[in-house]
Amino acid sequence: MELLDGKALSVQLIDSVKDEAEKLKPTLAVILVGENPASLTYVKNKKKACEHAGIEYKEINLPDTISQEDLLKEVNNLNEDSDVNGFIIQMPLPDQISVPEIIRAIDPKKDVDGFHAYNLGKMFLSPDFEDLPPATPSGIVKLLDYYNIPIRGQEVVVVGHSNHVGKPIGTMMLNRNATVTTCHIYTKDLASHTKQADILIVAVGKINLITEDMVKDGVVIVDVGINRTDEGKLCGDVDFENVSKKASFITPVPGGVGPMTIAALILNTISAAKRQASN
Ligand code: NAD
Repeated sequence: MELLDGKALSVQLIDSVKDEAEKLKPTLAVILVGENPASLTYVKNKKKACEHAGIEYKEINLPDTISQEDLLKEVNNLNEDSDVNGFIIQMPLPDQISVPEIIRAIDPKKDVDGFHAYNLGKMFLSPDFEDLPPATPSGIVKLLDYYNIPIRGQEVVVVGHSNHVGKPIGTMMLNRNATVTTCHIYTKDLASHTKQADILIVAVGKINLITEDMVKDGVVIVDVGINRTDEGKLCGDVDFENVSKKASFITPVPGGVGPMTIAALILNTISAAKRQASN
C-alpha cells in the first residue's frame, strides 16, 4: 500500500506557481460568515497557502445573522472590485441564506472554487474546458495523475453526489473515459457497487462508512470525508486501518484530499488572474 500524499504534492504545486504569482500579483478574497470552528480552520489554511504562493489574501468577516440581501451585496462588491481576481464564500452558510442564489451571483471569472453553473457547465464538456474546475475534484484528479494512476477504462465508484464534490468528480472521471458509478444515500446495496471499484472515491461525511469487506484487493481509495471522532481526532469516511491493508493506494485524512483542494484553489486563482490580465 502506498499513501497518496496530498500534503507533499500540494506544497510542490503551490511552489510551482510562485513565479507567476510574483508577476501577476493576484488577490484572493474569502467571505467568512460566522465562526464555525471547522470553517475557521479551513480559512486559516487557505490564508497560509496564499502567503506561501505569494498571493494577496483578503478576508471579509460577516456575522452569522447576515441577511441574503446583505450577503449578495458583499458578493457584488467583490465582483466589481478590480483589485480582487478571485473569491470564495466559505461553506457552510447559515440557514437563512439560499446557497444556490449566492453561487449564482458570483462572477464566473472570479469563481475560483468552481461552483458557478458556468464553470461546472464548461467542466461538463471536456477536460479541455476545465478553466476553473471545482477545487476538490480538481485536486483529486491532480493527485491521481501525479501517482500515475490510470483512469481510462477503470471502474470508478463515487460515493456521495453533492454538487461540489460527488457529481463533478464523477463527470471529470467520465471525461477521462472511466466507467463511473455514483452512489448516494438512496443506493440500495452500497457494498455491491464499492466492491467493483478500481478507484473508490468517498465523499459523504460518515465515519467508517467504507469497511474492508466492501472493497476488492488492490483498490485505489480517495477519502474526501472530514469527520471528527469523539476524541476529537480527524478522520475520513473510510476505515483506514483495515481498508488500507487491501488498497494499492489510499489518501490519509488529514493530509490527502484536503491540502489538494487548497492547492487547486491556488491554481484556479492564478488561472483567473492570468485570464483577466490577458483581457
Ligand atoms: P454533502 O452533505 O453535500 O453530501 C453528502 C453525500 O453523501 C450525499 O450525496 C448523500 O446522498 C451521501 N450519503 C449520505 N449518507 C450516505 C450513506 N449512508 N451511504 C451513501 N451515501 C450517503 O457532503 P459534501 O459537501 O459533498 O461533503 C462530503 C464530505 O466531504 C464531508 O465530510 C465534507 O466535510 C468533506 N469535504 C472535504 C473536502 C476536502 O477538501 N477534503 C471538500 C469538501 C467536502
